[in-house]
Amino acid sequence: MEQDYESILGQAERILDDVDHALARIDDGTYARCEVCNGPIGDGRLVTHPAARTCESHPQLTDPG
Ligand SMILES: [Zn+2]
Repeated sequence: MEQDYESILGQAERILDDVDHALARIDDGTYARCEVCNGPIGDGRLVTHPAARTCESHPQLTDPG
């Protein structure tokens, strides 16, 4: 059981890290830009993945599984 909690918290930590990163990107004006190809991430993707770092062309980098 404790192992599961650690795994859940590890995921939450990763999400918080992504949100932190997204907030920093809003500050420097790069939010909603793909970090790989610099293209627009797209509103549809941002609604489901507000902290997405990349566009749909490289979802494997941001979406586990
Ligand atoms: Zn891209």
